[in-house]
This record gives sequence, structure tokens and C-alpha cells, in this order.
Amino acid sequence: MIHVVRLSLLNFPTAPVLETGPTSIGAVRVLRISITDRCNFRCVYCMPEDGVQWLPKDDLLNFEEIEQIVRAAIEVHGIRRFKITGGEPTVRRGLIELIGRLRRVPGVDDLSMTTNGLLLNDLAEPLRQAGLDRITVSIDSLQPERFRRITRTGDLATVMQGLDRATDVGFHSLKINCVTMRGVNDDELVDFARLSLDRQLTVRFIEYMPLGDAALMHRSEIGPAGGCQAQDRGADSLISEGEVRERIERELGPLVPVNRSSEAGVGPANVYRLANGNPQGRIGFISAMSAPFCATCNRLRLTADGLLRSCLFDGGEVDVRAILRSPNSSAARLAQAMTDCVRLKPETHSGHGNQQMSRLGG
Ligand code: SAM
Repeated sequence: MIHVVRLSLLNFPTAPVLETGPTSIGAVRVLRISITDRCNFRCVYCMPEDGVQWLPKDDLLNFEEIEQIVRAAIEVHGIRRFKITGGEPTVRRGLIELIGRLRRVPGVDDLSMTTNGLLLNDLAEPLRQAGLDRITVSIDSLQPERFRRITRTGDLATVMQGLDRATDVGFHSLKINCVTMRGVNDDELVDFARLSLDRQLTVRFIEYMPLGDAALMHRSEIGPAGGCQAQDRGADSLISEGEVRERIERELGPLVPVNRSSEAGVGPANVYRLANGNPQGRIGFISAMSAPFCATCNRLRLTADGLLRSCLFDGGEVDVRAILRSPNSSAARLAQAMTDCVRLKPETHSGHGNQQMSRLGG
């Protein structure tokens, strides 16, 4: 729904119209930028094991083009927060150069990245030096064998080393994202919550979202609700925020809501801390399925091949690569594409997205 605020000024024959609400560009505060569709993991709920058709190299936006979009977002719309994602952003060649380049753009207030953490041991320091502000690491199991089965190629010890390295080189407000799936990792919810007891980080539980059809073609090898079967089973795989909170509170005591305005990059998460835990530790919930937050959605997404995407779940795309590569490209045209794209947001997202997450960047 578009909320329209009309100013009734006596001396204005036609009053100016200000739009608010999620389909107005004024609501957009974050641009998520996917820089590759490739990944060095093959998480069972995200990508098939093999046979993925990668984007041709020439289809990817180059760094100059990404910078132009960031500049237009800042200069025309005042968007100041940018999240680098993928695929797996650390496998894009020249990542450090891109981070440095974006850091130097005036008006970038918050530059963050989400990663599976596999290459973080080597990259944390150069990323910090290049000017990255914050990192989120995605981890779906704290059990090495299970972690391997979920990611198909990942190594938990290496990821945990990367997380420690990120702390050592000065990344604050570290986040761990855990996708909760019944029958896959729901016996580890309390173990994840415990991480916030002695580390200064936020553990965020993300409800599994049925997205795309790539995984549906590949039957999972992990458990009753694993991977693609989790998609087939739809709602059965979902563990709602309420259930996760209840299980954590039963073991670790009450969760106390935290004032969102004091948190860095809190996004759509509901944030808590354990009353009996480290006052700096946080537990967050992103509950797109049980409690969709479309009405307060404040983000746009850019895919690696230059589509602006209005919503994780539903179509609504605008091709900015075509604008960037046309002779009359300009910041104004790019900014107009953002305004057009945000109008395509659905009032409430559907129950099954039309594109897999690795193409959209989360
Ligand atoms: N590779 C990077 C990473 O691991 O953070 C960035 C891209 S990854 C697609 C972004 C996030 O989306 C990860 O936390 C991943 O677990 C999550 N994700 C992927 N498919 C999902 C799904 N169907 N439902 C919920 N989260 C999903």
C-alpha cells in the first residue's frame, strides 16, 4: 500500500505530494549489492551440488558500474548504507579493490559484507584496511560433520578461525546468521544462542524461506527436512521465532528486548539479549515467514548482473545494467530506476520466491 501524505498549504493550488511507506524511495535506506552469483559452498537449501549455470563474466557489473550506482543512490536518494553480498562475495576477484573504491565514495556511512567466512582468515585484515565497517558470517551448524553436510564443501574450523581473525583485526558488531530448519539444525538453537554469552556478537536466527526452484531439482541427502525437501515440505520446515525464543528461554533464561536504535545494522531483526548473559551479546530474529516485515521494508537489492530487485520473494525488477551501458547513462537515470523499482514491491510477499537466494544475495 502506498501511503500518501498531502500537504494542504493555502497558497498552493496543487499541493505537493510526499509519499511514505515501503513503495516510496524515501523508505529505502539500504542497498544490498551482490557482486557474484558464484559460491565456494553448495548449501543444500540454496544451490544444487553441480550443474549451476554461472553468469557469463561480461554480464557482471564491473567495479566502475557498481560505484556509479552507489554514487547515484547517495547523491539522489540519500541512501548511505551498503551491504556487499553474493553468491559468496569473497570469491569475486578484486574484492579488496572494490571495498577500497566504495569506501572512498563520499557519503558511504556504513559498508558491510555478508560471507560464509571460509576465506576470512586471509581476507579479514585487508578488508578492514580497505575500509569495510562490518561483517556478518553465515553459519548453520556448530557441529563439524553436519556443517559439512549442509554446506557440502565447507569446513567449520576454518570458518570459526576466520570469525576470530575478524575480531582480532578490529571488526566490531560481528553477526552470525543461522538459517533455522526443522529436522536439520533445530537441535542446535541453544548452542547458537550460547555464542552470545561469552562473545561480543549477535547471533541471528533466520527463518528458512522457500526460494527458487534450483534446489527442488536435487533431493537432499540430509535428514527429513533437509535442503530441497525442506522446500517441498514448505511450512513443516519452518521454525517460528516464537518457538526458537521459547526453546532458548527454557534453557538459558529470559530474553530481554534491546532498543533497536542503539544497534548497528539491525535491519529487519527483532533484537534481544539474554538477561543472564554478556550485556554486549545479542540474539536477533529475522522472521520473514511467520511475521513478514514488508510494511517496514527499507531495502533494495542489486543482483550481480545488474538487476535492481524490489523484493526477495517476488519479481519486480528493473534492469540498470542496460542503463549503465547505454550512451546516455546518468546518475539521474539510475536514480529513477531505483524509484521505479521500489514501486514494484508487493504489499506482502508471497510464500515461495521465484528466484534462488544465491542470485539475490539474501
Ligand atoms: N555467501 C554469503 C553468505 O553466506 O553470507 C552471502 C550470500 S548468502 C545467499 C546470504 C544468506 O542467505 C546466508 O546467510 C544464507 O544462509 C541465507 N539463505 C540462503 N538461502 C536461504 C533460504 N532459502 N532461506 C533463508 N536464508 C537463506
